[in-house]
Amino acid sequence: MQHSQRTIIENVAVLSLDEQVGELDSATITIDAGRITSIEPTPENPHLVRDHRAGDEVINGSGLVALPGFIDTHRHTWQSAIKHSYAELDPRVYFAEVLKGLGASYQAEDVYIGNKLGSYAALSAGTTTLFDWSHVQNSPEHSDGAIAGLHESGIRAVFGHGWPTSPDDSWTANSTRPHPADIRRVQNQYFPNGSLDDRITLAMVLRGPEEASPEIWQDELRLARELGLRVSVHTGAYARNAKAAAVQQYADAGLLGPDMTFVHCNHLTAQELKLIADNGGTVSLGIHCEMNSTGVGEIPFHRLLQTGIRPSLSGDTETKCTGDMFTQMRMLWAYHRSTLTRIGPERAAQVPTVTMRDILAYATIEGAKAIGQETEIGSLTPGKRADMLLIDTNALNLGPVQDPAASIVLAAHEGNVRHVLVGGTFVKRNGALTGVNAEALLQEGRRSQQNLLERANSRKSLAGI
Ligand SMILES: [Zn+2]
Repeated sequence: MQHSQRTIIENVAVLSLDEQVGELDSATITIDAGRITSIEPTPENPHLVRDHRAGDEVINGSGLVALPGFIDTHRHTWQSAIKHSYAELDPRVYFAEVLKGLGASYQAEDVYIGNKLGSYAALSAGTTTLFDWSHVQNSPEHSDGAIAGLHESGIRAVFGHGWPTSPDDSWTANSTRPHPADIRRVQNQYFPNGSLDDRITLAMVLRGPEEASPEIWQDELRLARELGLRVSVHTGAYARNAKAAAVQQYADAGLLGPDMTFVHCNHLTAQELKLIADNGGTVSLGIHCEMNSTGVGEIPFHRLLQTGIRPSLSGDTETKCTGDMFTQMRMLWAYHRSTLTRIGPERAAQVPTVTMRDILAYATIEGAKAIGQETEIGSLTPGKRADMLLIDTNALNLGPVQDPAASIVLAAHEGNVRHVLVGGTFVKRNGALTGVNAEALLQEGRRSQQNLLERANSRKSLAGI
């Protein structure tokens, strides 16, 4: 009988994020045909013969902690080549320049390069699944480029098909333009069976009541449901958007559902948060970008918890923050603790307890729920896909470790990530990405960045600015 090659990771500590599997100081993880087939405690008798087969790859996991791959539920991956360029500017400048001028000058190749660069960078930092929130569908070729960039990197991804960036407001201010019909071609061409290579799936990102006219935002949601796609929508960030009362409008139209993920939610009312919870919706907090975005509004983390909503986390736009999930976890914890101080003991007593394990769950299993894939990924569970990262705790910033969850949330970073697997395939091994030459990738990114800036400058000189 022909066997597939298995990967067996021995003597590894496990933070499974699965209640039944729990946490193990030393275990053997067996991976076969892309899935976890067993997680067993290391036998106390070292002479016990292990069930190895010829061809198995055996990894010594001593000093490593295995945890489920991180799941980023909202990333504008197309912007990866212009990262950190809006660090000190008012968020309004980002909206005016990136989402209008620069975005409109993106060619399909820039989207491809941005997505490839962003995906590989995510993998290197232990993010195995990325929700690519792609509001740069300027042409069918832009969509093709986005999918190609995700696919080539080996990451698991949800391609969130959006609308074109445009120099005018026609797509985003009380818009009467329907969602691009090309989404049907994208679905038929790449996702006729639901997924591309069992890794990439399709979703739809919406403008919603904050950016589209009532007829349009209702039609875009109906289209998503006709196509069987989950949706994600920016909601309630910045005071100007609060007036739309988007969630209330969805509810009034009878369209609120468990297939919806709401991003940011800063200005949502208590009633709107309750509507999300009651309808099984999910939330994504782009915590680092939110903290860096003056004027976005108070981060709704505690109000979410008080409503019974456990958030997922996201890297949002790297133009003004970092996309990595270690930072999101660390920022959220610091936000939580500092806010308890700020609001004082009486109000702090009303906030549900948050633990290090909760923070890890937001970055993993809650992310899986927010993309509707919790039966497949988000925890180390026999039967689920083998998406995981292995962190080397023999490092001066982590060791000597007492509680691996605390060490990882408080102090781990990309440099501590020894191995990353997606569907059982090593995408990072011994600290290096397997599928790409990082220097060549950076050169591609630099070329795209220069082209984008040149186009932006020539546009400005044409306009006489
Ligand atoms: Zn966003």
